[in-house]
Amino acid sequence: MHNLILKAKELLENKIVSVIIGFETGSSGKVRPVFITDSNKADSLIFDERCIQNLAVYLTKKEVKQFGKMGIVATLPIMRSIMVLISEQQLSPENVVVLGISGDGEVLDFADITVMQHYIEKCELGNPAKEQDMLATLNRLNMQEKFEFWQKEFSKCIKCYACRQSCPMCYCTRCAVECNQPQWIPVQSNNLGNMEWHILRAMHLAGRCISCGECGRACPVGIPCHLLTMHLVDQAQSYFGVYAGISDKMSSVLSTYAPNDKESFII
Ligand code: SF4
Ligand code: SF4
Ligand code: SF4
Repeated sequence: MHNLILKAKELLENKIVSVIIGFETGSSGKVRPVFITDSNKADSLIFDERCIQNLAVYLTKKEVKQFGKMGIVATLPIMRSIMVLISEQQLSPENVVVLGISGDGEVLDFADITVMQHYIEKCELGNPAKEQDMLATLNRLNMQEKFEFWQKEFSKCIKCYACRQSCPMCYCTRCAVECNQPQWIPVQSNNLGNMEWHILRAMHLAGRCISCGECGRACPVGIPCHLLTMHLVDQAQSYFGVYAGISDKMSSVLSTYAPNDKESFII
C-alpha cells in the first residue's frame, strides 16, 4: 500500500498523469472508486481483497478523460480490459499509466504496455474457479433445463442496465438496446424482451469478455449474467484457442476470419 501511494504521488507531482483512478474507503466504510488529481490526497488510496471492481470502465468515460493522461490501479482483469480497449482503439497507450497489482498485492512497475503484456501472458487466464464450478453445473443440464434456468433468472430482470454500465467493454455511446428506429429490444421488462437483451449482450461480449465478473456483481437482483459471457470465454478458447485481453493488437474472434477456422459450430 505504501508503495502504491508513493508511486501515485510521484506520477502526480511530476505531472506524468493528471488523475489516478484507484480505490479508497468511503464514508460508510465500504470500498469505492476514487479519482485523485492532487498528490496531497493520494494517501487515501487503498488496496486489499475488497478492491475487486473493474476500474477500467472509467477509462472511456469523457468525465474522466477530460482530466488528461490517466493513471490506474490495475489488477489482472483491469490490465486485460486495458488491452481490449487499446486493441479496439478506445484507449491510446500514450494516455494511460498502469499501477499494476500482482495476485499477492505487490505493486508492479510496468515501463510500458509491452511489459504488462509479458506479465499477463504468464498469468492464469481462464474463468475464476468459483465460476468454473457454476458453469460446470449448468453445463450438466439438458437444453430444456438450461432454458428454464435462464428464463427464471431473466424474469427477475428490471432492465436497469447496471450490468452494461459496469462492463469496460460496453462502451458504446448508444447501446443497441436504446435504438428505437428500429426498436431491436422492447423497453419494458418482459420475458421475451429480457431474453433478447441478454442474448444480445452476451453475443456482443463473445470473445471480448475478460472474466472479471463485474456485470454479475452489479446486478441489483442477483442475476448471474456474467455466467453467460464467461461461458463464451470457454467457447472462444475451445473453438479459437484465444483469451481476450492478452495483447494490445488482438482482433475479436467474432469479427475476424481465417481460412483454417473450425466450422463445426455452424452445423
Ligand atoms: S450491449 Fe452491445 S451495444 Fe450495448 S453497450 Fe454493450 S456492446 Fe454496446
Ligand atoms: S465478466 Fe461481465 S463485466 Fe466483466 S468483461 Fe465479462 S461481460 Fe464485461
Ligand atoms: S443489472 Fe440485472 S436487472 Fe439490471 S439489466 Fe442487468 S441483468 Fe437486468
